[in-house]
Amino acid sequence: MSYIPNIIFAILLVVGVGFFVQNIKKIIRNIKLGKDLDRSDNPSERWKNMINIALGQSKMTQRPVAGILHFIDYAGFIIINVEVIEIIIDGLFGTHRVFSFAGGLYSFLIGSFEILAFLVLISVIIFWIRRMILKIPRFWNKEMTSWPKNDALNILYFEMVLMSLFLIMNAADLNLQNLGAAHYVHAGSFPISSYIANWLPQSEGTLIFIERGAWWIHIIGIFIFLNYLYYSKHLHILLAFPNTYYANLNPQGEFDNLQSVTDEVKMMLDPDADPYAAPAETDTEEISEKFGANDVTDLSWVQLMNAYTCTECGRCTSVCPANQTGKELSPRAIMMKTRDRLEEVGKLIDKDGIESFKEKGDGKSLFDTMSNEEIWACTSCNACVTECPINIDPLSIIVDLRRFLVMEQSAAPQELNMMMTNIENNGAPWQYSQMDRLNWKDE
Ligand code: SF4
Ligand code: SF4
Repeated sequence: MSYIPNIIFAILLVVGVGFFVQNIKKIIRNIKLGKDLDRSDNPSERWKNMINIALGQSKMTQRPVAGILHFIDYAGFIIINVEVIEIIIDGLFGTHRVFSFAGGLYSFLIGSFEILAFLVLISVIIFWIRRMILKIPRFWNKEMTSWPKNDALNILYFEMVLMSLFLIMNAADLNLQNLGAAHYVHAGSFPISSYIANWLPQSEGTLIFIERGAWWIHIIGIFIFLNYLYYSKHLHILLAFPNTYYANLNPQGEFDNLQSVTDEVKMMLDPDADPYAAPAETDTEEISEKFGANDVTDLSWVQLMNAYTCTECGRCTSVCPANQTGKELSPRAIMMKTRDRLEEVGKLIDKDGIESFKEKGDGKSLFDTMSNEEIWACTSCNACVTECPINIDPLSIIVDLRRFLVMEQSAAPQELNMMMTNIENNGAPWQYSQMDRLNWKDE
């Protein structure tokens, strides 16, 4: 019967990892619903970006307090989870502290994990205070209600519980080692949990109950956390890496042009071009495409990955001049709504299959949740792109939505229509002839 816990552990491991893999496959499939975009250029620059921005968190340090806390939280949480390798081996084979043969190195590692766990605990408590007591405005924008707000808090609570369990487990283990309990080898160093150990009861049976209880809840908590990621903004723990690698390397402010429109303009400006010539075959293909985007399938796969990667930190919105001057626009909300719509499409595909979705759709689009007012409030200043700690580009989505409104629906605001007509007729945005453009100098 002594092997029953090992079987239960193996089942939990397979179910926990199995669901996680299934969810990751779903995310990859949803991202692939986006249009092709070649981002294979300049790999060395891309690697550099990924190492600096995702691994080194270089953009986080622009706000030093949050940057340092986030770095402790991130590094600590990842490094401590190295301990999970030992937990998995112990769980599967019924061993206890299987790596303890490493002696001094093992003690060093367990000691370091404890210090990191303590620092993570402190940083998470400070994060909670910033969010719930100091009420930093970007955490309280109108898009941060219900699930987004709870999601941020859930993760903080998760981390508090996991780190506490890790320290309690070690504290009980230390007491059991000192009591010479069978199975509890003398191993590890416990710079933090040795203080907790003093508060625990000293009976062997109770200590084993506490140690085993903390061990099981800790590992089950990790499996739950792994699967919670899919539903959470904390997917950025994984996606920040590909997201920074595939980010746009062109200078900010350089917009991508539609090839068909570029060709058209070049032809108009070419005095030798034959305006009645049949378009080349490739042009026809290009022209038959939809201009801009009104749904997630019109966006590129990088834009969809951006939506899944967004941490909902609100740094973009806090620097957006449109948002700051009371306009409807929030670049964070643009990313959140894109992800929500992508999830909605993904669920439809799960239910009816991709062919059915391509054929029938669901009659909805991004414009069901994004208003024209929001989209036209953007000044295309790129502040949101500059500020984003993981190189997300909300502006590119806004531009594609605008492109759809202008080129597919002729639904540009009146002021823009006038300006475009003036450019077409007068070669300038103003409502008077080119010949009169220098009149001002005589006044
Ligand atoms: S580019 Fe648009 S959305 Fe981004 S900060 Fe500027 S105004 Fe706001
Ligand atoms: S787009 Fe970037 S800055 Fe804006 S909320 Fe998402 S992660 Fe934060």
